[in-house]
Parts: sequence; C-alpha cells; structure tokens
Amino acid sequence: MGIFKELGLREIINASGKMTALGASAVEEQVGLALKEASQDYVDIDELMEYTGKVIAKVTGAEDGCPTCGASAGIAISTAAVIAGTKLSLIERIPDTEGLKNEVIVQKGHLVNFGASIGQMIRIGGGKVVEVGQANKVEKDHIEQAINDHTAALLYVKSHHTVQKGMQSITAMMEVAHKHGLPFIIDAAAEEDFQKYIKMGADIVIYSGGKALEGPTSGFICGKKELMEACRKQYKGVGRPMKIGKEGMAGLITALKLIENKSSKPEKQIERMTNLCNKLGKLQGLTCSIKQDEAGREIYRAQIHINEDITGISAEELLHKLEAGNPAIYLRHHYVNVGILSVDPRPLLEGQEDIIADKIIDILQGGNK
Ligand SMILES: *Cc1c(COP(=O)(O)O)cnc(C)c1O
Repeated sequence: MGIFKELGLREIINASGKMTALGASAVEEQVGLALKEASQDYVDIDELMEYTGKVIAKVTGAEDGCPTCGASAGIAISTAAVIAGTKLSLIERIPDTEGLKNEVIVQKGHLVNFGASIGQMIRIGGGKVVEVGQANKVEKDHIEQAINDHTAALLYVKSHHTVQKGMQSITAMMEVAHKHGLPFIIDAAAEEDFQKYIKMGADIVIYSGGKALEGPTSGFICGKKELMEACRKQYKGVGRPMKIGKEGMAGLITALKLIENKSSKPEKQIERMTNLCNKLGKLQGLTCSIKQDEAGREIYRAQIHINEDITGISAEELLHKLEAGNPAIYLRHHYVNVGILSVDPRPLLEGQEDIIADKIIDILQGGNK
C-alpha cells in the first residue's frame, strides 16, 4: 500500500464496485507477489501463454484459452481471430480486412460504451460492425437477415450497460449463428460465472481479469481450441500493441487458481455491511439495510436511504461531499435520484467500512447544525 499516496495522489476508498476508472481491483497478497516475482525474472513467453491458456481452460471448462491485457483487447483479438485465423499473411494485414469475411453482427442495444465503445474494439480487430434492429427492439429476423457471405461472427454483450429489454436472448442469437455455421462470441467482461456461457455453447467468451476475478489489470478469452490458437497467434499482429506481458500472465494465473478455491463469501460481506448499518442506523433521517444485487449475483451491499427532509442534505450532495474528500470515497449511486446510495463491500479494504461510516456521520452532523 501507499505507492499512490507517496506520489502525492489522493487516497481512494472504493465502495462503488469494480470500476476501471478507480483501478478496478486491489489484488490479494499472493497475486501481488506473483506480479513482483514475474517482473524480476525471464520466461519463454509462448510457453507461458500456452500454460495460461490451460489454466483458463480449467477454470472456465472451455477447451482452451488466451490471456489478454483486458476484456476490450479480448474483443479486438477475438474479432481478428475469427477473420484471420492462424494465417500469418492475414494476421499482419489486420485491421485492413477488405475482401475478407469481416462482418460482425451486433444487436443495436448492445453497442454501448463501457468506458470506451464496443464497436470501436471490433473495428480495431478488423471487423466491420453490422448493427441490427433498433436500440430498444431487435427481432430474430433482423439477425438472420443480416447474415451474408461476408459475415465473420455474431457478438453478444452480456452486461448491465446494455439495453435489457427488447433484445434477442443469448440462446436465440446463438441458434442463428450456429445454424449458419458462424462463431458466436460473448463479451461477458464483468460477469461472475466463468463457466455458464461456455456451457451454453458459446464459441468464444471474453472476461476482464480486473473485475469479478479480482485479478491484475488483464483479461482472458476462452473457447474452442482452434479459435484460441488463432487468438494467441494475433500477438504476432494486432495483439502486439495490446500485449499482456509476463507479469500480467503470472498475476492472472494466480488469480485464476485462487478463484478455484474461493467462494464469494457472502457471510463476510453481510457481516461487514451489518456493522456499517449499525453505525449509520443511529443517525436521524437515515436508514440502512442489506440488499442483494439486483441481478441476483452474490453481492450484498449496504443500501443507505437518505430522507432529505430530516437530514437537510440530499443523497446527491452527500455523494459529492464524500467524493470530494480526502480520502475520496466513491459510493454506488445508481439510485441517487430516489435518495439511495449503496456501499459495495467487495472492493473495500480491511476496515474501510468504518472510515465510510465515520465520514457520513461527520457530514450529516455538520449538515444539521
Ligand atoms: C469493462 C468492460 C469491458 C472492458 O474490460 P477491460 O478489462 O477494462 O478492457 C468490455 N465490455 C464490457 C461489457 C465491460 O463491462
């Protein structure tokens, strides 16, 4: 700890989730050690990459895997892989794919910004984005009728960022892809289930290493053997400026091995958030309760409801005061418009829930004067 503080940067308490803008995850000791040791040593990179692929395969249940520097690189590399395969002359041409099968079909409500644009990542990999349907309504016919001789793959984005209603399901879209013998890719960057989509039959699934896995800044792709070979081969082409490196791979391997033995420990989350709520519950105009994640994931957040009439300060004002402080505290604020802020226990370091409680008490008591 402390490198950023030493540099004079603001201390951050992250209670908002796995936010790339805040540094995604703080890794466990073992992962940190792997990063350090790898950085001070040598290894045959191709051998390490194949080994990492095998670890990815074991955790995901896929045939093989490919490490990346992030899920966004995973989209670009997967796209390049389905277009160029393992053929070096084509790999070296990417992103110029004129005359090749290069079209990637995406539902319109899935072309979102996750911090950058999904469509741009496809284009970096040489793909031509074919968006189908409307932002809030996509029919199976839209997908089916977009397929032609130039179609390279169909891509589905599984994320809270996408339009959740009116889109075709994974199963429906995959059925169309496979009926036409086309690879079906899922961007599951922030998803917690590393096996589900492979089990469902997807050919390529992309994850971020810094999100649910709580690994270092990295990512990984899993899927069919020949496609994963093609993905790894892209490091001779478009993958090079987005290479992961020995430290990233060593850290990723360690995080993947840890997750195999780790339950998400909901009891611990509930215990910490209960302590926070007990402290905050003493304040007038504030109620705090434990709520499971809306999407049913094993995340138990403290949900703080602020009654502005009593506290004299709105949820929005409280949010901004916390963010402007030092340490800067970032809460989850999806429902701030209805007076609700949440604390995500997963990214919090030991004891930080107490700092958050004290700071909120401090602000509210100050605001009441
Ligand atoms: C976060 C995210 C990405 C990018 O992941 P990185 O690992 O930061 O590159 C891509 N797609 C979706 C849906 C995401 O949520």
